Amino acid sequence: MKSLKQSLDVHADLAVRGVRVPTPVRRPAGAGPSDDGHVVVDGRNAAFPLNPASPYDVRDGRVWLGEVNTGLSLEVVRRPKFYDLSTADGVPYEQIARLHGRDVLATTVVQTCIRYAEDQRCRFCTIEESLRSGATVAAKTPAQLAEVAAAAVRLDGIKQMVMTTGTTAGPDRGARNLVRCVREVLAAVPGLPIQVQIEPPGDLAVIDALKIAGAESIGIHVESLDDDVRLRWMPGKGAVPIAEYEAAWDRAVEVFGRNQVSTYLLIGLGEDPDELVLGAAKLIARGVYPFVVPFRPMAGTLARADGATAPSPTLVREISARVATLLQAAGMLGTDQKAGCAACGACGVLQAAGG
Ligand code: SF4
Repeated sequence: MKSLKQSLDVHADLAVRGVRVPTPVRRPAGAGPSDDGHVVVDGRNAAFPLNPASPYDVRDGRVWLGEVNTGLSLEVVRRPKFYDLSTADGVPYEQIARLHGRDVLATTVVQTCIRYAEDQRCRFCTIEESLRSGATVAAKTPAQLAEVAAAAVRLDGIKQMVMTTGTTAGPDRGARNLVRCVREVLAAVPGLPIQVQIEPPGDLAVIDALKIAGAESIGIHVESLDDDVRLRWMPGKGAVPIAEYEAAWDRAVEVFGRNQVSTYLLIGLGEDPDELVLGAAKLIARGVYPFVVPFRPMAGTLARADGATAPSPTLVREISARVATLLQAAGMLGTDQKAGCAACGACGVLQAAGG
């Protein structure tokens, strides 16, 4: 039987080097750090790069490294039935929300970002590329989201929903619009666990409003705690002071509860690994789950144009293992979150590491 360490080694390697397998469910582009193929590995959601040059392939439902059976099972996520439907006014459901992993419905409610000018944009993000390619629509209405969520639950057994948004020009940075979206989705699908993802919203009362609307979890994603890294990789968003994030996290923990609040920390932006783990420890002490995730240079990003490369699997494994140990000691597991990326886990290897 494979040990946790062996399993984590292979997971970290797969997360960076990818796998050779055709997957019908992908994130072709969009907000955030990954655009991978969706699979289920040893029963867990995973999103691995689809890489024809990867040394890993899949035979008989197992992951093979050349002629070596790694012992990991891998199942491809099937195209969901709700992708075949369209709204009455002709918008394909697939352009409104997408399947992530095997059971998460994810949507970017506003697909534009005030920070998308080249000198402001996060260098790993392609939020507006999927809009340009016609894969999605710029703004999803609450009614559209409710219609798609109801169908995805009914036809495909969706278990939770993630709502993110590009940053808007208002002082709430887009958060208030999510209040309406959560309310309307829950009116159509009572009890569906929803995670909202926002920037620090200026007026912290919006965080309370999101909870009152019925969101169960919240992500306020900083990506890095190192100000040099932030300004280099996220010139626009990195100018928001960390103190604003801290105030928003603290309010969110008060309102949503410990371990229902999360943030991304990207591995591979050049941050000192010890500093990254120390920062993760401080977040855990606040009750915030640090979802450490390997940065991957997606097609269409400025990072890719710059020739940036993904971190080494060794670094991904080491940081994930160290943060998982801290999370275990604090009793904060991703699977204890009611909804959201930490609960899904696909974009990182923290859950495989025991976090
Ligand atoms: S971790 Fe978040 S972004 Fe990644 S597949 Fe899961 S829900 Fe989607």
